[in-house]
Amino acid sequence: MSKFWSPEVRELTPYVPGEQPRERLIKLNTNENPYPPAPGVEQALRDYPADHLRLYPDPDATVLRQALATEHDVELEQVFVGNGSDEVLALAFQTFFRQQRPLLMPAITYSFYPVYCRLYGITYRTVALGDQWQVPLESLTGENGGVIFANPNAPTGHGHGRDAIAGLLDRVSDSVVLVDEAYVDFGGESVVPLVRHYPNLLVTGTFSKSRSLAGLRLGYAIGSRELIEGLERVKNSFNSYPIDSIAIATGVAALADRSHFEACREKVITTRERTRQHLATLGFEVLPSQTNFLLVRHEDYDAGQLFVGLRERGILVRHFNTEALRDFMRISIGTDDEMDSLLEAFEALCR
Ligand code: PMP
Repeated sequence: MSKFWSPEVRELTPYVPGEQPRERLIKLNTNENPYPPAPGVEQALRDYPADHLRLYPDPDATVLRQALATEHDVELEQVFVGNGSDEVLALAFQTFFRQQRPLLMPAITYSFYPVYCRLYGITYRTVALGDQWQVPLESLTGENGGVIFANPNAPTGHGHGRDAIAGLLDRVSDSVVLVDEAYVDFGGESVVPLVRHYPNLLVTGTFSKSRSLAGLRLGYAIGSRELIEGLERVKNSFNSYPIDSIAIATGVAALADRSHFEACREKVITTRERTRQHLATLGFEVLPSQTNFLLVRHEDYDAGQLFVGLRERGILVRHFNTEALRDFMRISIGTDDEMDSLLEAFEALCR
């Protein structure tokens, strides 16, 4: 603690991401994709002329934004890119949510949202999840200076359909509704098609999960021109070059390969469902998931102890030490072999 830190920084409890182990473990703790990125990404890296790194990147990242605009059937001016969706989210909080009224969010959601609120001095109010662990859309419409939730939600895995979210947007028109679609490609329904009808809808996405590029740090937002212009203003007052040239080139290469993308996400979904069924036969309660992870708990075994037992067997999952989630473990979907090792370990631990 230092007297030189601002009051917000002194109060801050920074988000602690899952461990990045140095030893070789089966790593199922941070929702990375177990499959490599599209082969074109490797080619783009090989072909990249190192001499180009003398120059600043295109501050507008136009080729990448155009590729995203084509992919999502929107205009170039409706796309914003940043250094991971975490950065895009941080900029969105600064741009839209510093209002007199509180930002509304579900009580259980991506834990970075309250961290940003504290850092930027944004007041917020949380609303309890529904009895099926779903984001309570009907309760996110009260007096607010913005609304944010992940869809599908993390770490619970449940996702709402587009029509349900359109219902929320019909009731909230004076503030920005931010839908974080980090996991949408694993069975969720994207609300990007709604941006043409709702000027206050901002959708964020990432290359970290379904594109297997967490190490690249590439995220984006799609919304009305008005919202994107706001983000550009804040970005340009902060760092005009958030996306480096290599990320621009490799991001474009990743988007170009639809069949690799489809094949990997299908594999993840199939493995998820198989794992889900097997865990249920071992007595776990497994929440339905439209993501690349499962949130599970076992009536007879302590989640903290199971976490330690798995760690001893070389398997890393996520155990959140919060009141609401203490009984649960979040397990990212790995390859079939990795999930078989996990299931074997659970068989040994839960007998
Ligand atoms: N949103 C949610 C809901 C997430 O779980 C994550 C990843 N932890 C992110 C955003 C950030 O992803 P990235 O910065 O890698 O794009």
